[in-house]
Amino acid sequence: MHENAKLRVLAIGAHPDDLEFQIGGTLAKYAERGHQVFMAVTTNGEVGSSTLSREEIARIRYEEAKSSAETIGAELIWVGYNDEFFFDNEESRRRFIDIIRLAEPDVVLTHWVEDYHPDHFNTGKVVRDARIMTAVPNIVTEHVPLKKIPQLFFYDTVAGINFVPEVYVNVTGTFETKKKMLSCHKSQDAWLRDIYDMTYIEFMEVQTRFRGLQSGFKYAEGFRALETYPRISNYNILPFE
Ligand SMILES: [Zn+2]
Repeated sequence: MHENAKLRVLAIGAHPDDLEFQIGGTLAKYAERGHQVFMAVTTNGEVGSSTLSREEIARIRYEEAKSSAETIGAELIWVGYNDEFFFDNEESRRRFIDIIRLAEPDVVLTHWVEDYHPDHFNTGKVVRDARIMTAVPNIVTEHVPLKKIPQLFFYDTVAGINFVPEVYVNVTGTFETKKKMLSCHKSQDAWLRDIYDMTYIEFMEVQTRFRGLQSGFKYAEGFRALETYPRISNYNILPFE
């Protein structure tokens, strides 16, 4: 990464809190270095409660995602699909072509295509497959086609299952910010205890610490480049330093 070049970074997660779990430290690091970060959320997260109605929890989760993004000065893009029912089809692909055009990113970060949850792997697939088309003028969407195809990296899965990182970003310096971002999603504390018996901050901490253990840092986040043509040519677009 050139020291003075300001990047546009588009991170895309299926649910409000996925980005914080997996790459909160990396996004905080980009933001600290003055890069423009966009945090896009595919679904409204409206099943994420055992007690509140869909409308109530969706509204709360939007506010939580907004405060999390504000923590690092990122721009929130609320895409608005129904939680648990996001599919890979022509409509969703066109929608994500447009979202990528809107953010005009140098680099896109999204779910690995073998993560556990359909909303996660469908988001990963749709974003992966939309990427090249963002630069194709004859595919018309609201925003103008990109001049350059953005680079794409996949980030870690929930609990790191089915994911072998190729590269690691040291997030020791931004770990507290990551924790603060994830803590914005207060509504998920009770929900994740109810459904997965998971203490969410601790879960995130163990995984970030484990990726650190693998890479010789205290805390780290793992990534894989897209393996298909056109291949990633510049791994240094990730904030290693
Ligand atoms: Zn999720």
